[in-house]
Amino acid sequence: MIIVLKPGTSDEERENIVIRIEEAGLSPHVLMGKERVVIAVIGDERALQQQTLSAIPGVEKALPILSPYKLVSREFKKENTVIDVDGVKIGGNKIVMMAGPCSVETKDLLSGIAGEIKAGGATVLRGGAFKPRTSPYSFQGLGEEGLEFLAEAKKQTGLPIITEVMDPRDMPMMMKYADIIQIGARNMQNFRLLAEVGAHNKPVMLKRGLSATIKEFLLSAEYIMSAGNDQVMLCERGIRTFETATRNTLDLSAVPVLKQLTHLPVIIDPSHAVGKTPLIPSMAKAAVAAGADGLMIEVHSNPAEAFCDGDQAMLPNDFKSLVSELKRIAVAVDRDI
Ligand code: PEP
Ligand code: MN
Repeated sequence: MIIVLKPGTSDEERENIVIRIEEAGLSPHVLMGKERVVIAVIGDERALQQQTLSAIPGVEKALPILSPYKLVSREFKKENTVIDVDGVKIGGNKIVMMAGPCSVETKDLLSGIAGEIKAGGATVLRGGAFKPRTSPYSFQGLGEEGLEFLAEAKKQTGLPIITEVMDPRDMPMMMKYADIIQIGARNMQNFRLLAEVGAHNKPVMLKRGLSATIKEFLLSAEYIMSAGNDQVMLCERGIRTFETATRNTLDLSAVPVLKQLTHLPVIIDPSHAVGKTPLIPSMAKAAVAAGADGLMIEVHSNPAEAFCDGDQAMLPNDFKSLVSELKRIAVAVDRDI
């Protein structure tokens, strides 16, 4: 349910409403809008009678939220959420470019790539220290050493870092190094992980599961938000279909669909979607045209020797050319890169 407060409601009245909601065993999430304050009430609403609510001073009206997800829905929050990561705003007019290798390999290689993607127009550095590999015999990532290399690259370039967490027990370590915590496609429905990440105050990028519907995707985001973290962005990275010409099938329609259903920023990862370097630019351009708030692209200075996903890594120079082409498309849709 959403409780809309009357304009000019005092802080004391608002606090009183919050207490009444908590006394009913429900959890209030206050949203201080520019013109209005609304409170989303999460939990078994039968404990709170609509008539009782309307009688509380300050309450204008109480409305049901019809969608199965509440805090992530546009019904709850009309304005787009903008997440500030070290001054990089995600979800605003500027389209964010996140780039870097699939996995962190060596310190020098990572620092080199970080410098090149920055020069090419990226504002966030990606790189996995914990890799969710299909085979247990594949390279699993460097762990904390990889995070240290990311921290070093950040020191040299000033680029904030996005990196994946796979285990809730690693969250204290992640909090030391990451600026954005990534939850990978394979963990989209790891509910304990979602709740743990939700209990921390750090931006999160949730990737869509390999076979997840939009509803399941948004309910996973709801797990994070209902645990207290409202800095959530969503990433479409291709879904599994019968098609084998590409690694996955990029569901570009997810962009306008998500924009309609949620206020959260939407990022597209064309690299994992198509899985082949020559196909990435077209889908990156299409994503910008479709209204994505950002792109995540894998870049490596020596794809043939990359520890993972070399087939879908762009060379730094090609990334740079792509960004300059994307700028023209951004202008056509009233955005900026
Ligand atoms: C990644 O971005 O490093 C990754 C493993 O992607 P996904 O979870 O989308 O497969
Ligand atoms: Mn990868």
